[in-house]
Amino acid sequence: MSTSDCLFCKIVSGEIPAEVVRETDTTVAFRDINPQAPTHVLVIPREHHPTAAALASADAGLLAAVLGEAHRVAVDEGVADTGYRVVFNTGAQAGQTVFHVHAHVLGGRGLNWPPG
Ligand code: IMP
Repeated sequence: MSTSDCLFCKIVSGEIPAEVVRETDTTVAFRDINPQAPTHVLVIPREHHPTAAALASADAGLLAAVLGEAHRVAVDEGVADTGYRVVFNTGAQAGQTVFHVHAHVLGGRGLNWPPG
């Protein structure tokens, strides 16, 4: 399933270029175009699901695959030992701007809590 007007579906199809760091049969991980930390990678399912909540309802196994890939990215990026954050902004009030579910993997600097 994909939608023709979805930015991240276009990254999955190759229509829009991205700096891909990991790929599986079901997921793609690529660098955020506007990084908020030295490591800022987005992990998405190839299938279009708008939010983490929608994916949890539709296919919890695929959500687990996205999360597993997020942690593998952290290892590959060398931030797994120092600490990193995995974030799913879910809904507009939480700051979600692209409605194709994505895990942000952030690391390589100290991260404040609570987030803004
Ligand atoms: P959200 O605000 O949680 O939905 O995150 C969307 C993220 O996608 C933001 O961090 C953007 O910088 C990032 N982004 C938007 N367009 C692109 C792109 O074309 N390539 C890579 N990242 C993008």
